[in-house]
Amino acid sequence: MPMPSAPPSYEDSLQQQPSQPVQPASAQEFVIISAVLNRTPIRVTCPNCMENVVTVTEEKPRLLAHIICGALVVFGCWFCCCLPYCFDSLRKVEHTCPNCDALVGVYISGL
Ligand SMILES: [Zn+2]
Repeated sequence: MPMPSAPPSYEDSLQQQPSQPVQPASAQEFVIISAVLNRTPIRVTCPNCMENVVTVTEEKPRLLAHIICGALVVFGCWFCCCLPYCFDSLRKVEHTCPNCDALVGVYISGL
């Protein structure tokens, strides 16, 4: 039985696509009014419950820190995989409303 003419391979069809700009991982993170936020709680009007509240802050590693940590583990750097969590610019401070627990904003240092 003759082989049908092979369609272009998956790689070839990928290369024919116009290259899409790759979004940095940080662009996917949720950032609101980060310009007026810092590490300390601030008084804001909650956009969810409209109450005038002082935000509750919680410091967390950013998504990028998890990605770098995962990459270090993949490359065998078991001992340095926690290093990304030590960098200030890879951490974020989430401000939440104490009244309704809504996320009011995220402060990312280094912006
Ligand atoms: Zn609220």
